[in-house]
Amino acid sequence: MEPLDLIHQPASDPLAENEPCSALGHHCGVAGLFSPDPLNVPERLFYMLFSLQHRGQESCGVAWEEDGRHRGYKDLGMVAPVLGRFLREERRSRLGIGHVRYSTAGGGGLQNAQPIVVDCNKGRLALAHNGNLSNGGRLRKELTAAGSIFQGTADSELVLHLISRSREGTREDFLREALAPLEGAYSLVLMHEGALVAIRDPSGFRPLYVGEKGGATYVASETCALHAVGPMPFREIAPGEVLIVDRAGSRSFFLEPRLPRRACVFELIYFARPDSEVFGESVHGARVRLGEMLAELDEAAGLRADVVVPVPDSGNIAAIGYARRAGLPFDFGLARSHYAGRSFIMPTKDQRELAARLKLHAVPEVVAGKRVVMIDDSLVRGTTSRIIVGLLREAGAKEVHLRLAAPELKWPCYYGIDIPSRDELISNRLDAAGIAREVGADSARFLPVDRLLSGLGHSQGYCSACFDGNHPFRPDVGEKEGQ
Ligand code: AMP
Repeated sequence: MEPLDLIHQPASDPLAENEPCSALGHHCGVAGLFSPDPLNVPERLFYMLFSLQHRGQESCGVAWEEDGRHRGYKDLGMVAPVLGRFLREERRSRLGIGHVRYSTAGGGGLQNAQPIVVDCNKGRLALAHNGNLSNGGRLRKELTAAGSIFQGTADSELVLHLISRSREGTREDFLREALAPLEGAYSLVLMHEGALVAIRDPSGFRPLYVGEKGGATYVASETCALHAVGPMPFREIAPGEVLIVDRAGSRSFFLEPRLPRRACVFELIYFARPDSEVFGESVHGARVRLGEMLAELDEAAGLRADVVVPVPDSGNIAAIGYARRAGLPFDFGLARSHYAGRSFIMPTKDQRELAARLKLHAVPEVVAGKRVVMIDDSLVRGTTSRIIVGLLREAGAKEVHLRLAAPELKWPCYYGIDIPSRDELISNRLDAAGIAREVGADSARFLPVDRLLSGLGHSQGYCSACFDGNHPFRPDVGEKEGQ
């Protein structure tokens, strides 16, 4: 067997010290490609991962096959600084995969960066994972007790251990055996002995797409990453599908469904990029509909307002839908600094507030003397809303009505969306009227869950557990404690 040739995988990471296993929010993006004719694979992966940057900004990496070896490069940081070198290097290859990683403050570190590249009894393997296994803690305990060694704390290594432990000989058989015990969300891309393998869990929690261009096959979490390579026909990889692409062509087999389909509705509300399609839906179109539904509820309640203002950028599209449906002007009453970082993952309340203040600014020209409908995609702790309602009032807004293009967020997610502990979620403490009082708004309104689901009209089923507590897979006792 060829030795591994990792050209860059720094060995130690001070940020990773003392990291508790359960603290990981693991919501990432994956990409992969196979081409019968050699291409500059790491360069193509750069373009795809750059388009998936919104799915993870903590670390990124690529792995590819070159001269019969698996090579890898990954580091903490964003795609442009970490992987920009591949725009200047010429590397001929037929096969590669890539990953961008999202995690909460303190929940990451280099040992969790992907792809993970290994050599094992099944040959050369590399893996990148989007999602979270709800029974990951139990599987890890069992494997550790049986002698497995783990380098990081993410669930993704489990999959490699299960593959390696399988006694089955063929790729299809050992994948079936390795994946059978997994519960929860996994969209995976693998390189195995010259083949690209793309796998979507049978519930279809996380999106995964495949497209073809110029004889090459591209796989990515969202279609925006396929478009980054150029226009191409694409399709959704089906829940439970295992797609294998190599020099013999492409073929699929299917994993046994354990539960009905459960596509993560939060992908449409917040996470995915608006120019993408996920779960067969246009993200932009879904967000417009959410805004329209809010406007219909306000119309029925007789709300009178002068202007619709989005919280940029996450509220922009729902605000367009709201304004159109309500027949009100849409305007940018909040300006966003693109130089401020992400407030959401700051560890303390003071830091989050400061970050929100640095990021958003009211525009008096738009809001002074006006009854403002302020639209955001979701309310988590309420930090952002409290700051910006105050800014709008300071800028002279006469009334501020807070509208959320999502239901009340009340429950943890075990399938990969980073949600703080239950007691940090403002909707577990207060109802809409109480929230309006706490953030200083004249009123607050959420989208009811049944309205959200019927309005999106998805026949195949969504996971809305973060809103209604209806978790398709319960985590094992003791896992994700405190949530
Ligand atoms: P908060 O200020 O805590 O109420 O957070 C609400 C803001 O965080 C909204 O503007 C959302 O766009 C954003 N948000 C919601 N969920 C997440 C998440 N899981 N990760 C990062 N940002 C989020």
